[in-house]
Amino acid sequence: MKAILKDLGLSDVNPGAGTGTTWLKCGGEILESVSPIDGQIIGRVRQASVADYDKVATKASAAFKEWRMVPAPERGHIIRQIGNAVRARKQELGTLVSLEVGKIAAEAEGEVQEMIDICDFAVGQSRMLYGLAMHSERPRHRMYEQYHPLGPIGVITAFNFPVAVWSWNAMVALVAGDTVVWKPSSKAALTALALSKIISRVLQENALPEGIMNVVIGSRNEVGERLIADKRLPLISATGSVAMGRHVGQVVASRLGKSLLELGGNNAVIVSSQADLDLAVRAILFGAVGTAGQRCTTIRRVIAHKEIFNPLSEALIQAYKQVVIGNPLEDGVLMGPLIDGQAVQDMQKALKELESQGGRILYGGEILSGSIYDAGTYVTPCICEARNDYPIVQEETFAPILYLIPYDTLEEAIQYQNNVPQGLSSAIFTRDLHESEIFLSHMGSDCGIANVNIGTSGAEIGGAFGGEKDTGGGRESGSDAWKTYMRRQTCTINWSREMPLAQGIEFGID
Ligand code: NAD
Repeated sequence: MKAILKDLGLSDVNPGAGTGTTWLKCGGEILESVSPIDGQIIGRVRQASVADYDKVATKASAAFKEWRMVPAPERGHIIRQIGNAVRARKQELGTLVSLEVGKIAAEAEGEVQEMIDICDFAVGQSRMLYGLAMHSERPRHRMYEQYHPLGPIGVITAFNFPVAVWSWNAMVALVAGDTVVWKPSSKAALTALALSKIISRVLQENALPEGIMNVVIGSRNEVGERLIADKRLPLISATGSVAMGRHVGQVVASRLGKSLLELGGNNAVIVSSQADLDLAVRAILFGAVGTAGQRCTTIRRVIAHKEIFNPLSEALIQAYKQVVIGNPLEDGVLMGPLIDGQAVQDMQKALKELESQGGRILYGGEILSGSIYDAGTYVTPCICEARNDYPIVQEETFAPILYLIPYDTLEEAIQYQNNVPQGLSSAIFTRDLHESEIFLSHMGSDCGIANVNIGTSGAEIGGAFGGEKDTGGGRESGSDAWKTYMRRQTCTINWSREMPLAQGIEFGID
């Protein structure tokens, strides 16, 4: 572990605020990064105070004035180098993600790969920051829309994707000409610092000024509140729980800033009587148990046709029994620990509520003990029988609990699928074209992501990622999500020698 930390440029106690090229002597309290694998302290961070945050935001504002003037393809050239630097450290970064948040190695490295992919995407995007040209109603006039860099951007991230989610924002913001102030989750502080150090080397090698890519680790109540209220940051992109997003959205709206919210999900898979059950079981296993049920896109509900309800639940229970739970860095392990003791308690509380509301545990849900389990936060993934309208089923419990819900007609299944406050990801398993098209139509899934014959998680970076309703409505990563990080300007140029007005208005003096 020590060798990996050293290789990533981390020491025993690390400053929690940096401006891309310079690290601040921070004035906040010490934060211990504790591994959920075995309860050991991985490293420490001297957190930023509000005063430290202010220094960083000042640098980010100053650097914006320079960075925005660097041509976009040149910005892309810097991002290409960042992508290559991360590529060279993929395994070490993956190991740190496993140590800090408990993901199995394959998923942790997969997350680093997402950052590499978004770097490639952003490099291409650097030559495609297109605006539209349109025909003016006035003779000899030209109209077009262009996109300009927006400013220093605040990025708040959740613990569960400490590399990918930030990079989806940061790399796209960078190519758009923005500078970034990142407030990562305190539960994944070392990963954030390791990434910042990798980027720092690239910025220094290119003799870029400080303030382009900033990181601030500090308490949500002080540093977090200061960041979201900071008028210098025209956009706050926040990923996390619905409760956090509701608050951040209100604070940012009250200063008429822009927010991009990526919040909790309550994702369902409909399994029709026409489904390939084997395919469905494999997808549900990964979607519900992967990352120990701690993905925003985790499958939380399976809405199964009554005809296949029993064979499907039997097959899922058999599959769950084979899941090896343990140290996420060991080969063959499919599920690591939950992030902390609070997450274990939340899971137990949800299961009690489920039973009191009429639901039934079919498999799992125990806290594991003995050997490594005693020092960590390990549970068995859980399958329950439930109804969609139970209050607990309406909530996102960030743990591996899967609710199985029977249905009769597709109309009823879609109604269940949509009838939750969140709207992130959804899927149907069917071989019937009519069913899949209904699911994808205006009368189908109301989520930001709708899949056929694949699960709800594991999105690719090429498509814009995000969800509707309580999930917050934001879109980040691919497609045209870059537009959020820029300001749009409509320009009209009169190249005639006349002054015609729009809508045929005559307004002049003879
Ligand atoms: P969380 O809401 O507890 O924290 C997320 C981030 O918000 C952290 O960095 C935290 O410090 C910060 N924060 C909280 N209150 C703040 C405040 N007042 N001011 C500024 N910052 C504040 O979430 P978590 O436990 O880290 O992550 C799990 C949640 O994130 C789940 O609900 C999950 O679904 C969601 N999530 C959503 C997506 C998505 O893209 N939709 C992706 C990953 C995670």
